[in-house]
Amino acid sequence: MDTKAFEFLLLRKLVMRLRLAMALCFGLMAAACQQAGDWTEAERMLVGGQPAVMRVLTVDDADDLAVLRTPCQDLSPRALTDPLYLELAGKMLATVTSPEQDGVGIAGPQVGISRRIVAVQRFDKEGEPFEVYPNIRITAQRGERQPGPEGCLSVPGRRGEVLRYRDIDITYTLPETGRDTTERVEGFTAVIFQHEVDHLDGILYIDKLQEEN
Ligand SMILES: [Zn+2]
Repeated sequence: MDTKAFEFLLLRKLVMRLRLAMALCFGLMAAACQQAGDWTEAERMLVGGQPAVMRVLTVDDADDLAVLRTPCQDLSPRALTDPLYLELAGKMLATVTSPEQDGVGIAGPQVGISRRIVAVQRFDKEGEPFEVYPNIRITAQRGERQPGPEGCLSVPGRRGEVLRYRDIDITYTLPETGRDTTERVEGFTAVIFQHEVDHLDGILYIDKLQEEN
C-alpha cells in the first residue's frame, strides 16, 4: 500500500465517521422531538378555538379515524407548564363529564390532539374524581387478563367484551416538577387506564374484539 492510498483510506474513514456522527446527531434530535414536543400552532388553534366541551372524534368520519389511528407524542416539560396544558386538561375534563358524553375516560386523540394525555375517572379514590395524566404509559401488568364490557366515546352505539389486566402500573409526568412517577392501579380503574392508553398508540377497543374472535 503506497502513501497516497493510505491517505485516501484515512480520509475515507474520517468522512465515514463524520457521516455516522451526523446521522446519530440527527437521529437523537428526531427522537427528542418525538419524545417531548412543545405545542404546535395548530394545537393552540384547535384547543383555543373550541368551547369547553370539545368535539369528540368518531370512527364514523374518515378524517377523524385518521387522527384516532395516529400514535401520540409526549409533551415537553415546557409544554406542561404552558397555560395551554391546563386549558386542554380542563376542556378534556369538561368534555368527558358533559351530559352528552358521560364517559369514564378520554384520550388526547379523541379531541383531535395527538399527544400522550388522558383523563380518567378514579373509581379507586374517594369521591371518584376525574384526573388528567400527561406522558402516560402502562409500565407493568400483573395476573391474568379478565373479560369485561367496554364502550368508547369515539365508537358510538357499540359495546363489547375485552380482556384486560386488573393490576397494573402507570407511569406519567408530574406537570409541576417535570418528573416521572409510577403508581399501581387496580380494578375497573386499571381497565379504563388500559383503554385510554391504547388510544395514545392509535389502538381502539374494537381491534381487541377482532383479535380475540
Ligand atoms: Zn375510547
